[in-house]
Amino acid sequence: MLEDFLAIEPPIAKELSLPKRIGRLPDLAYNLRWTWHPEAQNLFSRIDYSLWEEVHHNPVQFLRQIKRPQLNAAISNVDYLQTYDRVMELFDHYLSTSKTWYQRENPDLLNRPIAYISTEYGLHESIQGYAGGLGVLAGDHIKEASDLGIPLVGLGFLYTLGYFRQTITEDGWQEALYEPLDFANLPVWPVVGRNGDPLTVSVSLPGRDLAARLWQVRVGRVPLYLLDSNVESNSPVDRELTARLYTAELEQRISQEIILGIGGVRALRALGYNPTAWHLNEGHSAFALLERAREYVAAGRSFPEAMDIVKQSTIFTTHTPVPAGADEFPLWLMDKFFSQYWPQLGLERDAFLNLACHHQSWGETFSMPVLALHLSNHANGVSEIHGRVSRKMYNHLWPSLPEDKVPIRHITNGIHTETWLARRMGYLFDKYLGEGWRERMDEQAVWDHISDIPDEKLWEARIHLKRRLAAHIRDRSRKQWLSGKLHPIQVVNAGVLLDPNVLTIGFARRFTIYKRAGLLLHRPERLLALLNRPNLPVQIIFSGKAHPADEPAKRLLQEVYQFAKRFESGGRFIFLEDYDLDLARYLVQGVDVWLNTPLRPLEASGTSGQKAALNGALNLSVLDGWWREGYNGRNGWAIGEDNQDQTAEVQDTQDTESLFSLLENEIVPLYYENRSADNIPLEWIARIKESIRTIAPTFNTRRMLKEYVRDLYLPAIRNPFPPIGDSSLEIPT
Ligand SMILES: *Cc1c(COP(=O)(O)O)cnc(C)c1O
Repeated sequence: MLEDFLAIEPPIAKELSLPKRIGRLPDLAYNLRWTWHPEAQNLFSRIDYSLWEEVHHNPVQFLRQIKRPQLNAAISNVDYLQTYDRVMELFDHYLSTSKTWYQRENPDLLNRPIAYISTEYGLHESIQGYAGGLGVLAGDHIKEASDLGIPLVGLGFLYTLGYFRQTITEDGWQEALYEPLDFANLPVWPVVGRNGDPLTVSVSLPGRDLAARLWQVRVGRVPLYLLDSNVESNSPVDRELTARLYTAELEQRISQEIILGIGGVRALRALGYNPTAWHLNEGHSAFALLERAREYVAAGRSFPEAMDIVKQSTIFTTHTPVPAGADEFPLWLMDKFFSQYWPQLGLERDAFLNLACHHQSWGETFSMPVLALHLSNHANGVSEIHGRVSRKMYNHLWPSLPEDKVPIRHITNGIHTETWLARRMGYLFDKYLGEGWRERMDEQAVWDHISDIPDEKLWEARIHLKRRLAAHIRDRSRKQWLSGKLHPIQVVNAGVLLDPNVLTIGFARRFTIYKRAGLLLHRPERLLALLNRPNLPVQIIFSGKAHPADEPAKRLLQEVYQFAKRFESGGRFIFLEDYDLDLARYLVQGVDVWLNTPLRPLEASGTSGQKAALNGALNLSVLDGWWREGYNGRNGWAIGEDNQDQTAEVQDTQDTESLFSLLENEIVPLYYENRSADNIPLEWIARIKESIRTIAPTFNTRRMLKEYVRDLYLPAIRNPFPPIGDSSLEIPT
């Protein structure tokens, strides 16, 4: 059955009439493998660089718009054709090799797929299916699963409107712009059966059935299936259910989660998958566990038996360190949406609601993370400290256990190295880390060779990346200015006065109160002095989106923007609109210092600092999330104390003082002073080397996925449980 669907080619590929000699470019375009293969990206950008930028690095749109003369120029360029042949060969080899890590380690488990479910995937800037770190992590997770040959199958949404694009008014107010995505321009195509009909799955919502169709994306070797409720047979309101990420409206939200959880299980079944392990990335998809239990009950088992089977095969990753951040629903809403469903589980109302009961001071709610914890034997937080916070937070679910025995472990988040590594740094690593470093990137010995890189070569690369960032920022500002919609001060705010020779600090992430983007603004006069010290100037770049419904975060963003507008900032305090994966790459690769100031212990992990470290920026961060494990006293700086129990007020005061004092007394002098005869900051470079050497081998998805496999996936997979339905329906290998 699965073969039927897999055999279907992206239909658009046939419409594109490309010269035969480069006729396989659509194969590349329709598999996101190119997003972590710079040479493959070159195959597009070299044909027409302006168009490549204009379509925001979207190869499908690029191939639909590229003009014949450019294509003809490409096929008459010997060098281009050589690159083409080499890239295609590598691409084919990547997809067909049987020498992956997983195949070596677990040759007997290749036909035991692992389902991975997430509400968002941050795979590339051309697919707007993510809001922040959770999504970027999910994207990096499946890219790494592909590299390691793990038989993962991903499940999520294809949002019609994506996440919003951000513009800032002259007054500093964030405006959200939703642009409908044209799916024909995305590297996705519908799943259709042999008879040509699109595959749809159906779920029950109050008073009606809803149909969702399925789209497929290839991420290297990993198939990703995306649900979309924009189907003709649905009512206009239902067709919009999967338009946006995380709607605040509760009925829409629960409907979305029913589509993802219940519809998602049905989708995989319809495709013929019989996953042996199910990994939920956060609790939004936890209804999937109910649906899996329902399958067993329908096949004749009792609910306790069904629950036991589901538990053994479920992995749940929690990302939320505060009860208030949990995804939960009022009980009246559960009655409305699930009163037809719990009888199918063989449960009474109370027993059903008890599966996810969360006692709030004002009453009870149905909590999705509690549901996920009740129905999974394998649970984890995303950093050491977050594991501890989660055990404490959920201790009440295991009242007989002491806190440290609560069965939630931790696996610290990492980044997909090849996605985040600047090309220029990659050349250096290729030259000095030794043959095959990319295969062994989670080994310390590989990174000990960082010391072999000559200081001047490393500094040249750093300066190059900073110039690239400055040039990109100027380009963006010019485009915005050309639109005719900007006030001149906004062009200054957008960074046109940026100087690549000046120590540059980056702060870019979702704008949300606990991340404390405003910490520096607590001491405005001290900040202005820091920016403009004679011979020791500093530039600070801010970027990030606030959730459209988060008014306090939007006001904080406005404060930052207003500060940037002050003439005394000298154009050295800037705000870049519309933070996304593309801008994130420029920033983590181009700045000197990556600043992070979360209120402890609310940063479950964070990963952007890992991206910065990989590319030679130094972390300046509160000891929370991953940095508490990564910091060793010599590879960056720690703001404030290692104490998670202080009040917000105390943390604000202490951290502000610590931050300014580190900048004024240590960081700025280290950058500008003690320069060599050819103007290289030797001590600064020593720190960069220590930072890359100690952070790169550990804080990557290679290490992370191997831990998931060893500690969570294999125990689930090796614990055989009775299959549902026809067990011969297994993923072809
Ligand atoms: C890496 C990344 C994140 C997550 O990083 P944090 O450290 O949690 O902010 C969020 N958004 C984008 C665009 C990223 O690239």
